[in-house]
Amino acid sequence: MASDPTRFVIIGNGAAGTYAAEQLRKDDSAAEIVMIDDEKYTLYNRVSLPRYLRGVLLEQRVQVRDLEWHVKNRIDLRLETRVTQVNFEEKTVSIEPGSELGYDKLLIATGGRPNPLRVPGSDNAPYLFNFQYFDETKAMVARIPESKIAVVLGGSFIGYELTEAFAYRKLETHWLQRGPWFLRRSLDEPGGKVVSHLAEDAGVHLHYEESIETLERNNGQLKVQGSKGFAATADLVGVGLGLTMNIDIFKGTALQTKIGVLTNEFLETNVPDVWAAGDVAEFYDVVSQRHHRMGTWDNSLNHGRHVAKNMLGAKQPYVEVPTYASGMFNSNISVMGVTTEEEPDAESLYEVDYDARNYKRLFFLGDKLVGAILIGKMKGRKKVLELISSRAPIDERQKVFELLAMPEVPVKPAPAE
Ligand SMILES: Cc1cc2nc3c(=O)[nH]c(=O)nc-3n(C[C@H](O)[C@H](O)[C@H](O)COP(=O)(O)OP(=O)(O)OC[C@H]3O[C@@H](n4cnc5c(N)ncnc54)[C@H](O)[C@@H]3O)c2cc1C
Repeated sequence: MASDPTRFVIIGNGAAGTYAAEQLRKDDSAAEIVMIDDEKYTLYNRVSLPRYLRGVLLEQRVQVRDLEWHVKNRIDLRLETRVTQVNFEEKTVSIEPGSELGYDKLLIATGGRPNPLRVPGSDNAPYLFNFQYFDETKAMVARIPESKIAVVLGGSFIGYELTEAFAYRKLETHWLQRGPWFLRRSLDEPGGKVVSHLAEDAGVHLHYEESIETLERNNGQLKVQGSKGFAATADLVGVGLGLTMNIDIFKGTALQTKIGVLTNEFLETNVPDVWAAGDVAEFYDVVSQRHHRMGTWDNSLNHGRHVAKNMLGAKQPYVEVPTYASGMFNSNISVMGVTTEEEPDAESLYEVDYDARNYKRLFFLGDKLVGAILIGKMKGRKKVLELISSRAPIDERQKVFELLAMPEVPVKPAPAE
C-alpha cells in the first residue's frame, strides 16, 4: 500500500525557503510542499534592490520566480499569509488568514526585519525608509525624481548601498555613521580611510560619529537634526540599522534561539523534524568552529538547497567559508571568514595603498588564517578562501601577503592544431 506523501511546510519564501522548495521537488516528486510568506511577492532578489534603486535595473528584473513556476513545481505558495504560532508537540502551524496546518517536516526560513529609526519625529515620518523590501524600494524610486538632498544613517552595508544609490542619482548625499569609520568592528582605521576616500571620490558628504537626533516635517521635506551638530532639510532619509531576526513566534516554545534559530552543522534545530536556513539560522559552522549567522544571498541559497537534502534524510554538514562581496562605490569589497566583528580577540595585519585605494586585512587565531577583508583589487581572494577552509597552520603571518600577491596560476595556451 502506498504511504502518504511527506508534507513539508516552509515558513518564508526568500532565497532560503524558495531554493529549499525547489530542491525538495527535484529530489522527491511525491512530496507535498507548502510555503507560507507574509509578503505579497514571489521570490525577488534583495541583492538586486540597490541596482533597481540606482536606476540601472528594471523593476521586472528584480523578480526571480513567478507564480507559474510554483504551480508547475506543485509548490502550494500562500502569500500575504502569516504564521502566528507553531505547536511543535502537535506538529502544526497556525496561519492568518486561515487556521491550522499540520506538517511532517518544518523549515524555518523567516529571515530578519530591519530595525527602525526611533527618534522624536520618526513615527510615520514621510520619506523615511529602511531598505529591505521591494515595496519600500519602489517608494524610494518614486521619490528620487523630486529629490535633491538625501541623508543616510548607518555604518554597514545597507547604509553604504543607500548612500551609493543616492549619490549615483546625483542627489546631495550625506552619510551619517555612528562609528569613527565604516564597518567599525571589522575594519581598522586605515581600512576606514580607504572607504572614506572612495566615498569622497563619489561626491558623498561624510559625517562620522554622528547620528540622527530628531526629525521634523517641513513642507514635504524632513528636517534632520544630528547628535553632533549636523543639520539638513532632506527630501529622502534612508537608514540601515541592522536586522532583528524573525523569531518572535517561537517565544515560549522548546525551540532554542539566540539571535536567530540555533542549529547544528546539519541545519537541524533541537526540535525533531524542524530545520532552519538562511539569515535566521544561527548554525554551527564547521569551518570557523563556532555558531554564527550569515546575512548573504549565496549563503541563503546554498542553505536552502542543502537543508532540503538533509530534510530528505542526507545528514550532511554544511561546509562553506562565509563570504560577503559587494561593490564599494567605484571599487569592490570582500569580507571572508571570521573578522573582529565575530571574534574581537582575533589578531590582524594589514597592507594599504591609499592612492590606489587598495587595502587588505588578514585575521588570525593562533596559527590559523580565519578571515580577511579586501578592498580594491580582489587579487588573492581565491587563495585566502583556500587558506581559511584548509585550516593549514601558518608559521609566518606576513608571508600570507606575499602569497596573495603572487600571480594566479597562468592558464597554459592550448597547443596549436
Ligand atoms: C538592500 C539589500 C542588499 C543586499 N545586498 C547583498 C549583497 O550584495 N550580497 C549578499 O550576499 N547579500 C546581500 N543582501 C542580503 C541577502 O539579500 C539576504 O541575506 C537574503 O536575501 C536572505 O534570504 P532569506 O531567505 O534567509 O530571508 P528573507 O529574504 O528575509 O526571507 C524571509 C521571508 O520570510 C517572511 N516571514 C518572516 N516571518 C514570517 C512569518 N511569521 N510568517 C510568514 N512569513 C514570514 C519574511 O517576510 C520574508 O519574506 C542584501 C539585502 C538587502 C536588503
